[in-house]
Amino acid sequence: MSEQDAHRKVALVTGANKGIGRGAAAQLAALGMTVLVGARDPRRGEEAAAALREAGGDVHAVALDVTDAASVRAAARQVEERFGRLDVLVNNAGISGSGPISPDKAVDQVPSTVDLDMVRRVFETNVFGVIAVTNAMLPLLRRSPEPRVVNVSSHAASMTIFADPDGPMAALLPSAAYSPSKSALNALTVQYANELRKDGVLVNAAAPGFVATDSNAHTGVLTVEEGAEVLVRLATLGADGPTGGFFGAEGPVPW
Ligand code: NDP
Repeated sequence: MSEQDAHRKVALVTGANKGIGRGAAAQLAALGMTVLVGARDPRRGEEAAAALREAGGDVHAVALDVTDAASVRAAARQVEERFGRLDVLVNNAGISGSGPISPDKAVDQVPSTVDLDMVRRVFETNVFGVIAVTNAMLPLLRRSPEPRVVNVSSHAASMTIFADPDGPMAALLPSAAYSPSKSALNALTVQYANELRKDGVLVNAAAPGFVATDSNAHTGVLTVEEGAEVLVRLATLGADGPTGGFFGAEGPVPW
């Protein structure tokens, strides 16, 4: 590792082979960070990392399935061996459950008919996966002078929005698995922020907005570049930045 490389911040983005995660990886690399593209399919991770390197970034692939304890352990070992620390963790990997969220899939996400196995799968990735990855990376984050953790949440996490029948919830589809999983992720964000505040680890949740990706069959209205901006802002907070917050492009999002 050259002296210049030793001074670069090291960022790991989970589920970064495509979508918002890949957009965040590109922006963090453009800021001069060494970026680790976490991907459960190593081949697709390598392809994404190679494309981002071609654009000039110091980007490397890391095989990482957030639901697989051995894969999480191996990824942490790899980061430790290559870099000795981690400055930024973006917990981006996530699934919606019943395939791309769309009106014809709404019935799959109504609580009275939701498939419990699907709910378990969604929580396995969106909630338990975040705990597994964060805890595995925490010893490495504690070695950073300015550690930052960004949990990629959603406006669908907001109970304030869903509970207001006259509010914007009408535009949100029923979401009996995905929405509670992201609400749980928000609750975890506050728990981690409270525990780690004294260590200078800033932990925040991000709502990227409705971004055109595979998760919504590209019906979203924002580009991945636009959606990734709030993740990058929270990944690069100064020491006086917030912790335990929930932010979208426009600022705080109601819990
Ligand atoms: P995509 O489906 O495009 O990307 C999801 C990424 O997560 C893929 O790289 C996928 O890998 C990865 N992933 C899924 N499961 C795992 C796993 N077990 N281990 C590792 N990686 C995994 O979706 P988006 O880019 O839209 O979503 C990114 C995040 O943003 C998610 O957390 C989502 O909930 C959130 N979000 C998205 C919004 C949107 O409008 N698009 C709105 C609000 C929040 P693979 O390619 O192998 O499937």
